[in-house]
Amino acid sequence: MPALPLIPVTQPFLPPLAEYTAYLVGIWERSRLTNNGPLLLQLEAELRHYLQIPYVHFTSNGTIALQLAIRALELSGEIITTPFSYVATTAAILWEHCSPVFVDIDADTFCLDATKIEAAITPRTSAILATHVYGYPCDVLAIEAIARRHGLRVIYDGAHAFGTQVAGRSLLSYGDITTCSFHATKLFHTGEGGAVLLHDEQLSRKVNLLKSFGHVGDEHLALGINGKNSELHAAMGLCLLPRVAGFIAARAELYHWYRQELAGLPLAYPHLPPDTVYNYAYFPILLETPAQLLQVQALLATHGIDTRRYFFPSLNHLPYLDGAAACPVSEDAAGRVLCLPFYPQLDIEQVRRIAGLVRLAVASAVPA
Ligand SMILES: *Cc1c(COP(=O)(O)O)cnc(C)c1O
Repeated sequence: MPALPLIPVTQPFLPPLAEYTAYLVGIWERSRLTNNGPLLLQLEAELRHYLQIPYVHFTSNGTIALQLAIRALELSGEIITTPFSYVATTAAILWEHCSPVFVDIDADTFCLDATKIEAAITPRTSAILATHVYGYPCDVLAIEAIARRHGLRVIYDGAHAFGTQVAGRSLLSYGDITTCSFHATKLFHTGEGGAVLLHDEQLSRKVNLLKSFGHVGDEHLALGINGKNSELHAAMGLCLLPRVAGFIAARAELYHWYRQELAGLPLAYPHLPPDTVYNYAYFPILLETPAQLLQVQALLATHGIDTRRYFFPSLNHLPYLDGAAACPVSEDAAGRVLCLPFYPQLDIEQVRRIAGLVRLAVASAVPA
């Protein structure tokens, strides 16, 4: 096996160096690196415009954005959440001393199954925290109706959802708060980074206070943390934001190549709900059995092609949780889902090679 994968599962897009260094020249001239510098304010303004959301806080990462959301909404007790997400979704709940209550996912979208939420609500439930997995939308209207009926707050982990639109609106504009990650592996990135996105001015002021140590000058108003981000990271965002439409178009093409090359194989894919413009953030395939998945992953690895089990394990099986409810749909998906290399720099020859190896591995896999 080669020491480094020849085809990684993802690869961050880097702008032409001269474009980034032009921003650096300005940073050097101003000698201002952080604490709401002009590039950070510019990025926040451009994100407000791009996403059509009135309040945007550019944070140091997507995990602190989730924690800030939970804090700002003063959540306590139980938070209904999805078992099919990156571990940070559950970890943020636990770090904020709340209890995750897992509700199973929808087999079509891999997102929280809204029809199963109400059965999990107890007097201790304070909120619903759902992830738009792979950029596929949760049933935002059903979740909003349930939250309203039961007086619950809604947070969306929108780490995969940048660029997806539902009913003509940015998917990131739903819920009381949506958080995003701008980590290097995401569709739009700032190296490290994230955001808290919301509509309510009062709540926005609170997020702002909490992310800057809870004080304004000498006045200490709340227990805060450092969730700020820097001019250096904002500069990367300013370079990449105008390119997002191009990234999505390139990914859409890549997606259709993959589907074409993999046609006829016994694979399943998540389904896009109607009225959705998708961002093509990931390329997950659902194999028939966990054994088949391992065979595909192993064969690709021997050819220097990296894949990821996004997401495994189902989060209700995290070893530091006990007594989490069973989530059979999520557990089944987590055992069989594999994300293939997916980033705009891939070309059709590479897609053909990867798909050909998947075909070979599936054909030779031991039947269940
Ligand atoms: C990447 C990711 C996060 C964490 O974001 P960071 O910026 O890496 O802290 C949270 N949730 C989901 C679903 C993610 O994919």
